[in-house]
Amino acid sequence: MPKCEIDGKTDILSLTLPELEQELEALGEKRFRAKQIFDWLHVKRVSGFDKMSNLSAQLRDKLQSVFCINSLFIVKRLASHTDNTLKYLYRLYDGNHIESVVMEYNHGNSLCVSTQVGCKMGCSFCASTIAGFKRNLMPSEILLQLYEAERDSGRKIGSIVLMGIGEPLDNYDNVLGFFNIVSSPEGTNMSLRHISLSTCGLVPKIRELAKLKLGVTLSVSLHASNNDVRSGIMPVNNRFDIYELVSACKDYFAETGRRISFEYAVICGVNDTRACAEELSVLLRGLMCHINLIPVNKIAERDYSSTRDSVRRFQKYLTDLGMNATIRRTLGADINAACGQLRREYEI
Ligand code: SAH
Repeated sequence: MPKCEIDGKTDILSLTLPELEQELEALGEKRFRAKQIFDWLHVKRVSGFDKMSNLSAQLRDKLQSVFCINSLFIVKRLASHTDNTLKYLYRLYDGNHIESVVMEYNHGNSLCVSTQVGCKMGCSFCASTIAGFKRNLMPSEILLQLYEAERDSGRKIGSIVLMGIGEPLDNYDNVLGFFNIVSSPEGTNMSLRHISLSTCGLVPKIRELAKLKLGVTLSVSLHASNNDVRSGIMPVNNRFDIYELVSACKDYFAETGRRISFEYAVICGVNDTRACAEELSVLLRGLMCHINLIPVNKIAERDYSSTRDSVRRFQKYLTDLGMNATIRRTLGADINAACGQLRREYEI
């Protein structure tokens, strides 16, 4: 994989431990130094080479001349008054902005991270896509959302969802780099079973990911029960249709043993009828899955809406059909915690 660079220097936080070992060897240094440096970066999480006190001043200078330690700057931090949700707006080294959200559940804190600046996928209900796509995040920038949120909030994050701005499978290599680093026993050592990746349905990448058997939970943004409705709100459905998508999900389950989670934003008059529920039950028959119903979040550009009643009614249709469907708890409603909304306010 090509190295990530910032102003001509290698982005050291984006390197996996084996990659860092190779880099150190290429600089004529001993391999074990890589572990020490990795520990400073990913366990002690220091922001400068000058803090790496078990390295010689000479080596620290050398590192400084070859590598850069990336950082995020907190532009805004919003705390919900109704639950303990925290939302961060970060500025990246090049002036772009991304968002992360810390959510508190009974089982611990979960962090929702962004994977791209903007998004190419064009889902009609989503705020992240409206201003278009700027660039992929580097592994360091996905990791730093975790490090900054833990540092600033003082809370330990137990799980991560790749459900913020961007399409993670459209930034596949960097997301895999992030998985490798965050799960490294020499670093944060988070089990990949505590990570969920949410996708709009890039079928070939779902199949590639399945083969790696990483233990990651796959969340699929389905939002419709047939091709007509789905293509009407999600352009990606014209590339990979709903049947190809469900077939890839079946194979993901067969390959990994991990139950699929389907996201379904209930939109009044678009996808919330009993007929939709019946179609969905046929579509997903035989697949070990769970359906997460989300009341669609209003965005300024569209008049999509959902009511509490319409979501409950749709849930009842599904459960009556024997399906496993829950309504997602809305967290951080008072701080506009849904993805992409804060960045948009800020960038306009
Ligand atoms: N690109 C990935 C992850 C980012 S979007 C994906 O599509 O899954 C995270 C989730 O929020 C997706 O399920 C997406 O469909 C949903 N979402 C986006 N805008 C929404 C809105 N206005 N209301 C409800 N859910 C929304």
